[in-house]
Amino acid sequence: HRHVNHATHEAVEAVIDTGHFHPEAILWQRLDAYRAGGGYRLLVDCRDGRVTAEALLATLERANLRGLGGAGFPTFKKWRSVRDEPGPRYCAINADEGEPGTFKDRHYLEREPHRVLEGALLGAWMVNAEALYFYLRDEYPGLHRVLGEAIAELEAAGLAEPGFIVLRRGAGAYICGEESAMIESLEGKPGKPRHRPPLVAQRGLFGRPTLVNNVETVYWIPRLWQEGAEAFAGEGRRSRQGLRSFSVSGRVNRPGVHLAPAGITLNELVAEYCGGMAEGHRLAGYLPGGASGGILPASKADIPLDFDTLQEHGCFIGSAAIIVLSDHDDLRAVAANLMAFFADESCGQCTPCRVGTEKLLTLIERDTWQAADLERLSRVMMDASICGLGQAAPNPVLSLLRDFRDALADQNVIVKG
Ligand code: SF4
Repeated sequence: HRHVNHATHEAVEAVIDTGHFHPEAILWQRLDAYRAGGGYRLLVDCRDGRVTAEALLATLERANLRGLGGAGFPTFKKWRSVRDEPGPRYCAINADEGEPGTFKDRHYLEREPHRVLEGALLGAWMVNAEALYFYLRDEYPGLHRVLGEAIAELEAAGLAEPGFIVLRRGAGAYICGEESAMIESLEGKPGKPRHRPPLVAQRGLFGRPTLVNNVETVYWIPRLWQEGAEAFAGEGRRSRQGLRSFSVSGRVNRPGVHLAPAGITLNELVAEYCGGMAEGHRLAGYLPGGASGGILPASKADIPLDFDTLQEHGCFIGSAAIIVLSDHDDLRAVAANLMAFFADESCGQCTPCRVGTEKLLTLIERDTWQAADLERLSRVMMDASICGLGQAAPNPVLSLLRDFRDALADQNVIVKG
């Protein structure tokens, strides 16, 4: 499979910079400005023993910080579990950000790369890592320059040993956003997800315990410390805690990254943060979690956008990539587009995913859908795929069968069963 062959760092290091980067286009906060606002004080305090590991872990727990790459695992627990494994250990930051519709990591890295780097170095300090790897999506060539310069600033200031932070480029494989595939790719192998157990926290990079965090997760750590865990945890609606960075795209007036309270609904998000629906468009449905999280109808736009609630409706929020669809959109075309994406990005190592994605695509392009066949194939894919790609790939199809039968009929799709 072509993606497999590309997902090695040897291949990547041979890629010539495409040159579509203009340094003046990204106005990022330099080291001096970040330090002037108190930046790197927490890191220095940790290293000098003025802040203990336990105090930092307690703050993360009080703030209820969870992994913001999509899985939502409590950060303090992950940090503690890797710290408890025997050394040597590694730390890796997942900046692959390949989920369609997600651009929040890019948003933070383009503005405050040092805040992300400080959070990452805190993780590395916590687990006493031998090295800190930064796995950056290759479609962000501008950010590669920014991070390279920011790391050089850190080294020159004596805040990071030269060579301790290793900046690596991905090669455009969506699957390398899956943490074990990312680790394979960092090791120079094809980016194929590993079987679990063992978890990467136990046996990750080069077979050693590895702390893997998403960009946004570590971004929040210095900020939480500065602004107070309680202030962060005090945000939220409908008894949810915290803030979420929603990447909003589609048929709204103001797409972009919107920092909004956890527990907000789609209707509230669109009205209060996105300037309403675009002129002449009526909400028809939305994707709450990029390509993988399924599709919800307009009638379910007043449920809280959180993990548990969405799961009750057969969907999930993942990295909070919200794609808003209107009455101008062809829903079957949307589902086919997503399925073609999954078929293209499947790493190919397990049959239910490799064959299932292509088969589902063929079936939904027909004008008559056999619901029982689609559901049976979906069940096999969800039960028997190794990783989240194959498990989530049927979601768009199942969503249409569950909530969009009338819309399908309008598009002359006959659903039997
Ligand atoms: Fe590869 Fe798909 Fe299997 Fe994941 S589910 S390991 S992407 S074939």
